[in-house]
Amino acid sequence: MSMQRIVIVGAGQGGLQAAVSLRQEGHNGPITLIGSETHLPYQRPPLSKAYLKTGEAESLRLRPQSYFDDQDITLMLGTSVTRIDTAARQVVHAAGSVPYDHLILATGTRNLRPGFPGVERALDLRTLDDALALRQAMANAKSVAIIGGGFIGLEFAAVARGFGLTVIVAEAGPRLMGRVVSPAMSDRFLAMHREMGTRVMLGAPVTEVTDDGILAGGEAVPADLVVLAAGVRPNSELAQQAGLETDNGVRTDAQLLTSDPAISALGDCAAFPDPATGRLVRLESVQAATDHARLIARRLTKGMTGPYAAVPWFWSDQGSSKLQIAGFAATDDLSVTRADGAVLRFAGDHLSAIETVNDPRTHMQARKLFAKGARPTRDILRAHDYEIASILR
Ligand code: FAD
Repeated sequence: MSMQRIVIVGAGQGGLQAAVSLRQEGHNGPITLIGSETHLPYQRPPLSKAYLKTGEAESLRLRPQSYFDDQDITLMLGTSVTRIDTAARQVVHAAGSVPYDHLILATGTRNLRPGFPGVERALDLRTLDDALALRQAMANAKSVAIIGGGFIGLEFAAVARGFGLTVIVAEAGPRLMGRVVSPAMSDRFLAMHREMGTRVMLGAPVTEVTDDGILAGGEAVPADLVVLAAGVRPNSELAQQAGLETDNGVRTDAQLLTSDPAISALGDCAAFPDPATGRLVRLESVQAATDHARLIARRLTKGMTGPYAAVPWFWSDQGSSKLQIAGFAATDDLSVTRADGAVLRFAGDHLSAIETVNDPRTHMQARKLFAKGARPTRDILRAHDYEIASILR
């Protein structure tokens, strides 16, 4: 079992963690990590935060080249897998093929590029090469228009304001980060960004990138630079073409196995059953990518068969505000805002997530609560004044 050949497609956060965890768990067989990008595996979160300020790419690196040499992990960078041959159990790339006994798909997501005119003029912020290009473009810009008021667009907006640029965020929906946070948290961040001097346009779909800016909600908004942060699509085409089940991502069971028992999927590209509700979800977070990888490594080395049950958590740094989310809420989950600003979300009557700002203590308490499998009702929480510490006791 432990000599089986494991191939990982995608050398990002989750793919790298899968290779690391496999060796840590005692897998002795060959591991091949294949990635389209030419850089050693690196972390993306700083690309919209510290990296834009410092330009230090080395600190993003997850492991040095010597790690792969020492651990006997074959790293194939600058190599895109074009096809999975499930019958022959091999992955195919431009220069050949690599056989596997077990395949892990860690292909992540790519930026959604809407089809409106001029979109090719907008810069992306997904890869290290994107961030490098953006940093250079910012040096010559006085104003920037950001298409999309989600986490990445808003983190970038805060950095750009810090550089003294005129910043406009155009969001098609009625509120910021609308897919993932409560209305109260959207309002709080709207106020914060406006206080920072950013012009935030809501309900303003962008329909064109023009020679001198964007057309948002029918209004011509001038900008030297346009950044596209309008969401992502899972890279699930390889799986789809190989006949695996897909549904807004590569569909897996509770152990992150795809519909082919020789193939697992993890991270941003995987649609898996949420342990709390059973709903099929796809999470775009470092936590999900790394915890998925650890579970798959344990399953492949130890034959462990327990379902994936890690508590989801997430963070976003925008200006001086650190937003943290523990748990997972659907867009329409109800919210209760505590006097200190923490927001508790409820799926039906049960606690689903807790959102906090600059309050790591409550965030950690929430993670502890969810880790115990506790999903207290609103009545119970109300009886405890919505104090998580009190419930934990
Ligand atoms: P990725 O890390 O995206 O890696 C996928 C890799 O697969 C890519 O390198 C891609 O090139 C490669 N690939 C795809 N197809 C192929 C193929 N056919 N052949 C070979 N290689 C292929 N998360 C947080 O939790 N907190 C944050 O604050 C945060 N900030 C972020 C800021 C930015 C700017 C971005 C872009 C993301 C941020 N994220 C954040 C999200 C987080 O980085 C991702 O959830 C995480 O990287 C997912 O890991 P992954 O391994 O699934 O995918």
